[in-house]
Amino acid sequence: MRSIIDILKKNDIAPSMQRIKILEYLKNYKTHPTADMIYHALADEMPTLSKTTVYNTLKTFTEKGVLMALSIFGNEVRYEYNTNPHIHFKCIKCNKIYDLDKTYFRYDDELIDGHKILEQHINLKGICKECLKGEK
Ligand SMILES: [Zn+2]
Ligand SMILES: [Zn+2]
Repeated sequence: MRSIIDILKKNDIAPSMQRIKILEYLKNYKTHPTADMIYHALADEMPTLSKTTVYNTLKTFTEKGVLMALSIFGNEVRYEYNTNPHIHFKCIKCNKIYDLDKTYFRYDDELIDGHKILEQHINLKGICKECLKGEK
């Protein structure tokens, strides 16, 4: 918990219990949840939590760079704590989003067709290994 409070303070965010719980959830569950999923996961434990608080907190976290908001697959916004560059893979069967190591694509600081690449956002779609097992 200490480190979560430190992260919030470092980013000039007052560490309220609700903010701590939301960030803690995203640190523990790397499933790229939506705001709704986070709300439902925490509502039992924190009856005073409102959806608006969850939305506002996620907005603040994203603006401060604590979280990454992904709106890459359709109109649904997903959140994640891992702000290091990586590749996303979405399974079309179970809708899970996996983080993949970016070393599969080595374009950082390289020139492609004369263009200097500074960032990459690569999103892949397919059938995940778990769903492939079920197909056999
Ligand atoms: Zn799957
Ligand atoms: Zn990710």
